[in-house]
Amino acid sequence: MIDTYGRKITYLRLSVTELCNLRCRYCMPEDGVCKKKHEDMLTQEEMVTAVRAAAALGISKLRITGGEPLVKSNIVDLCHEASSVPGIREVCLTTNGTMLPKLAAPLRKAGVNRLNISLDTLDEKKYRYITRVGMLQEALAGIEAALSAGFDKIKINTVLIGGFNDDEIESLAALTRRYPIDVRFIELMPMYDSGDFGPEAFIPYTVVTDRMPELIPVPADGGVAKLYRLPDAQGNIGLISPVSAHFCTECNRIRITADGKIKPCLHSSDEISIKGMDYNGMLDTIRSAILTKPQWHGELSYSERSRANRNMNQIGG
Ligand code: SAM
Repeated sequence: MIDTYGRKITYLRLSVTELCNLRCRYCMPEDGVCKKKHEDMLTQEEMVTAVRAAAALGISKLRITGGEPLVKSNIVDLCHEASSVPGIREVCLTTNGTMLPKLAAPLRKAGVNRLNISLDTLDEKKYRYITRVGMLQEALAGIEAALSAGFDKIKINTVLIGGFNDDEIESLAALTRRYPIDVRFIELMPMYDSGDFGPEAFIPYTVVTDRMPELIPVPADGGVAKLYRLPDAQGNIGLISPVSAHFCTECNRIRITADGKIKPCLHSSDEISIKGMDYNGMLDTIRSAILTKPQWHGELSYSERSRANRNMNQIGG
């Protein structure tokens, strides 16, 4: 489908749960989430129906996200069903990686093509600090498991946080020399309740190119990241700049939250419910939601917070 600003909408991000086994400071509050009633969340059948309706409207790429999608007990089955939907050509999944040692191979078998694994630091203490509860070794074991499972592509997502991990840019980027993976640095977004970060935490992506003048620009791959490569590396370095240089004109995505709200724009408070609808209801509702997608997400900065009114774990990053 083409939206009212001429953008071809081909990418759905489906959040399958708000729950997570970590508590990343920029993503969710320390005490987790106020657990919503089971009956208010989309069922597996509704999620698959939503994917079918979205695919009928031209969605060909699906990202399964959360919360942490791998805490969902039916995740493998859900990925299998979603990847079998006609028209869905690529299924990607975003995870913190800690449960991949058990789940990487079954997910690959269930039709997941690509994985994004979140990793903000290579320092054990800092990992525990940023995730509040996590163990770095578990995330690293998850990356190893993903590499063995034979995904088409593995990307590491690193949120750039001034005063926290800007001293690790080179060592995180060096992962692309050691492994056949991409590392993407993503600007910290000022979400509703994204922790206690001060203005110094919100650094622009250009810090990465300033720090590593040896980076060689490479052509974009159709995604929103500006791509570079280190000499002799096996993977690319991606820079994603939702704050300092928005990419709304190229935005081809819509989101559906775990409680069944379509979000045509990540940073808008507009939400349209599909909970309880059948296929035809979802088809009509997704179609009209796409037509309400705004031209851009509005100013974003430390003082101009996102208008999403939800934390990332309740939207799906
Ligand atoms: N639990 C999974 C994970 O850790 O990747 C998937 C959900 S998480 C919300 C998806 C992505 O959103 C992660 O890469 C995370 O780093 C990113 N994210 C969350 N809050 C963010 C923020 N305030 N700014 C930038 N990225 C954020």
